[in-house]
Amino acid sequence: SAPPLGSSVIPIVNKLQDIFAQLGSQSMIELPQVAVVGSQSSGKSSVLEALVGRDFLPRGNEICTRRPLVLQLLQTKRKGDGSGEDEWGEFLHLPGRRFYDFSDIRSEIQAETAKEAGGNKGVSDKQIRLKIFSPNVLDITLVDLPGITKVPVGDQPSDIEARIRTMIMSYIKKPSCLILAVTAANSDLANSDALQIAGNADPDGYRTIGIITKLDIMDRGTDARNLLLGKVIPLRLGYVGVVNRCQEDIILNRSIKDALAAEEKFFRSRPVYNSVADRCGVPQLAKKLNQILVQHIKSILPGLKSRISSALVSVAKEHASYGEITESKAGQGTLILNILSKYSEAFSSMVEGRNEEMSTS
Ligand code: GDP
Ligand code: MG
Repeated sequence: SAPPLGSSVIPIVNKLQDIFAQLGSQSMIELPQVAVVGSQSSGKSSVLEALVGRDFLPRGNEICTRRPLVLQLLQTKRKGDGSGEDEWGEFLHLPGRRFYDFSDIRSEIQAETAKEAGGNKGVSDKQIRLKIFSPNVLDITLVDLPGITKVPVGDQPSDIEARIRTMIMSYIKKPSCLILAVTAANSDLANSDALQIAGNADPDGYRTIGIITKLDIMDRGTDARNLLLGKVIPLRLGYVGVVNRCQEDIILNRSIKDALAAEEKFFRSRPVYNSVADRCGVPQLAKKLNQILVQHIKSILPGLKSRISSALVSVAKEHASYGEITESKAGQGTLILNILSKYSEAFSSMVEGRNEEMSTS
């Protein structure tokens, strides 16, 4: 089954990319990067994995993510022969080597982390760059970052907190970066490192989504309804609550599919979350991200159109100066502009009302 992230945006983005490829231009649609921030062990890597729908990131109850991991998802054509050979990972530091087994990807991340950051909890700002090729993904870049810690352990320098904060800021200060600010439900939201650092990078909250993890291990007698409703700390783009796998699930190698099913069951069996169902679960988070991506694509369409028009004008001029016939190029250009206009309309109706079209199920 397809992973939830981007599944509804993929066909549209693909169409657009095909159109641009015909024009000999590939990188016209630049989707925003998505970065996760928060305290150590708040569940950042778990959330990213759930979004991608594959098991491949080191996760655990002590420091695991010790270097920024820049994860570039790239869509491939579906092979359709069931061989599973259309999905693989490739590291920048190991060019040409394809990892078909995702648990090997996790081992390689761990080995490469140790190479740069040592074996004893050290942290490095040197990136690990990983590409995941799959027919089920959208071309988007996700960044997994080390969590904020306060007290140096192992080989960490005394200024570990400041270093990690600087590292995180270098990613999330970019206006094109979407911030997933992750806070565990069993910690106090008013003390959230995630919301604090996201607030520094994005004070107006236009690109910060709040994520509350560990709803399953809240203090008995409490629930996250008010957090999710933004009654504790309001956030323009709102919150999504999730239940990821616990450490025992990780040790027992519980699959991501089972984890998503368990999450669904968790919310279904707790009436307190019924009225906020649209803010509960990884599929809802994917849906929210999809909507933001659609908005983004919609907002860049007019610019794309004018860039194509002016490219066409200059091609026409150039050809005219040679006295060549430009009919085919011009015809192609007109066609592309027509298609783009159609897409603008489609986006408008998607965004302004018929949101159920973007459902990820
Ligand atoms: P990170 O340091 O923020 O990347 O956090 P990880 O994703 O590595 O998770 C840290 C620990 O918390 C792991 O042992 C996870 O199994 C556990 N964990 C993460 N999310 C949840 C959750 O929603 N519920 C429970 N019970 N445990 C979780
Ligand atoms: Mg992590």
